Amino acid sequence: MNKAIFPGSFDPITLGHVDIINRGITLFDEVIIAIGENSSKNYMFSLEERIAFIKTTFKDNPKVSVVSYSGLTIDFCKAIGVEFILRGLRNPADFEFEKAIAHTNRHLSTLETVFLLTSAKTSFISSSIVREIIRYDGDYKKLVPDAVRTK
Ligand code: ADP
Repeated sequence: MNKAIFPGSFDPITLGHVDIINRGITLFDEVIIAIGENSSKNYMFSLEERIAFIKTTFKDNPKVSVVSYSGLTIDFCKAIGVEFILRGLRNPADFEFEKAIAHTNRHLSTLETVFLLTSAKTSFISSSIVREIIRYDGDYKKLVPDAVRTK
């Protein structure tokens, strides 16, 4: 069974992430959304909230699950027996950043990183823009799945 993890902060999950996950499950038997916890980062949403948004969004899809982890992604993959990392590419900056990480992971393990190009209609969305809109009380709901609510 081919399993992939889709690692990220998901602070919060956006329609861009949802697009990559929905397309990822056409390639893999299972996509595990893995929320990386970094103690030096300040998150807008708690880990529990981020997990709940994702669980609700994919409640009808048994091929999608969500977990959290800390430490190196390659160590986590080894621990749960996953051979593929799924990532989304929006633009050249994403590519340059992801290239270095994928090369490093490949150097340190046998993991393959599979990249999907974002759909044109969601390629401009980022969690940081969503957080900015939320901070200034804007209409963030067009950019995130229905499960994401601030209060
Ligand atoms: P990170 O903190 O690792 O950047 P994110 O939660 O921001 O975590 O992103 C996780 C993954 O989702 C990354 O591969 C990123 O490129 C991808 N991603 C983020 N926004 C979008 C989008 N709008 N369309 C497609 N992929 C996206």
